[in-house]
Amino acid sequence: MHMTPDEFRHAGYRMVDWVASYMERLDEFPVLSTVQPGEVRAKLPPSPPEDGEPFEAVLADLEEVVLPGITHWQSPNFFAFFPANASGPAILGELASAGLGVQGMLWATSPAATELETHMMDWLAEMTGLPERFRSTGSGGGVIQDSASSATLIAVVAARERATDGHSNRTGARAGLVAYTSTQGHSSVEKAVRIAGLGSDHLRLVPVDEGHAMRPDALEARIRADRERGDVPTIVVATVGTTSSTAIDPIGQIADVCRHHGVWLHVDAAYAGTAAVCPEMRWILDGVDQADSYCFNPHKWMLTNFDCDAFYVADRAHLAQTLSILPEYLRNQATESGAVIDYRDWQIPLGRRFRALKLWFVIRHYGVEGIRAHVRRHIALADRFAAHVEAHPDFELAAPHPFGLVCFRHVGGDDVNRQILERVNASGLAYLTHTVLDDRYTLRLAIGSPATTERHVDQAWELVSAPRR
Ligand SMILES: *Cc1c(COP(=O)(O)O)cnc(C)c1O
Repeated sequence: MHMTPDEFRHAGYRMVDWVASYMERLDEFPVLSTVQPGEVRAKLPPSPPEDGEPFEAVLADLEEVVLPGITHWQSPNFFAFFPANASGPAILGELASAGLGVQGMLWATSPAATELETHMMDWLAEMTGLPERFRSTGSGGGVIQDSASSATLIAVVAARERATDGHSNRTGARAGLVAYTSTQGHSSVEKAVRIAGLGSDHLRLVPVDEGHAMRPDALEARIRADRERGDVPTIVVATVGTTSSTAIDPIGQIADVCRHHGVWLHVDAAYAGTAAVCPEMRWILDGVDQADSYCFNPHKWMLTNFDCDAFYVADRAHLAQTLSILPEYLRNQATESGAVIDYRDWQIPLGRRFRALKLWFVIRHYGVEGIRAHVRRHIALADRFAAHVEAHPDFELAAPHPFGLVCFRHVGGDDVNRQILERVNASGLAYLTHTVLDDRYTLRLAIGSPATTERHVDQAWELVSAPRR
């Protein structure tokens, strides 16, 4: 009944072959899946099989049923949203993690899972130039979350606890705890504010400047007005690399405002944080040494497949105070000794996957220099696309492009841009998405697949700029 180790070995080789062949074929598929709603389910039997089936049959259906319903995120022609780039070493790290099958909620439930994670978080901090206070050797430390959304939620809950002197966990969030992000902040901030009990009426969207970055003077004014009314400013979420246009909030100035008013500062660099591996890009994190917490997603731009968010806090005591509950059945000597980290106290769920393995595999395979080269290549490709836009009389750039994202538009207005997007995406040869900047429909081309080359970027530009019919 169970797959024997030997059967697993043979099926496993087939599986690896299939993934390798998928990588080779990436260029051939329409980037955006063309299935209609319900089409995938219609190919599945209504009920589960009573008797087990051969692995060959499952593999065949991966090709027949699943592949047509895949939007190819790893395609060199995928330019939508932000990338979620994967890589060979990351996939193998996932396989090792699945093979070990450990649940690393406590140090004692697999010491290697905890210690490798602590070490990888320190490596990432060194690679991206994070301050000493975010490292395990300082007052804080790093932990892997499933997503930036979870990181933000934890920051909001910890800030809520700090703002209420440790009362909110017991008595519930009092009314009037206020959170701040810019009008360009990610939707996960509002979600966190809802879940944490602050309520979305208590989220202030701070105006931005002409570069779509938060205005510190407007933040200051908003906080003052709220305090005068008796509200309690609790957390500011600043963004490095906004989702819409990769705008960079001035963290240093925002930190000054936060310090003056005793407000928690969380910095969300989900996509852009990876760029800090390059010394010439370190400026994007100027001021982060003043933040209470920080996160970026290796699962976006650092070749580590989903999910992997690196979350750092300046003072780890806040996490334990906010999230630690010790029932009898989890008591153990190592925890009681105080000599170990139990990451269950640094996250929402109890259970946790061994995600550090894939990071370890990625960093060792590429080396820091290899990851820098990956980032620099994408920034250069974005520059190349932006140059095409600038050279064309009918197109314009809609925002600066410090990273791999180019925001641009046809000068002919919203409808023309909508039509361009539909036409390009229907071709199957590229997938772009859109946003609205300054009340105008804007096209986004985000470069992020390891396989993307100048040829793919030029082809995308030809599709975008092809004369309209
Ligand atoms: C992508 C993104 C998020 C959400 O990331 P998840 O890991 O999917 O939760 C949050 N903030 C910013 C700025 C993002 O770009």
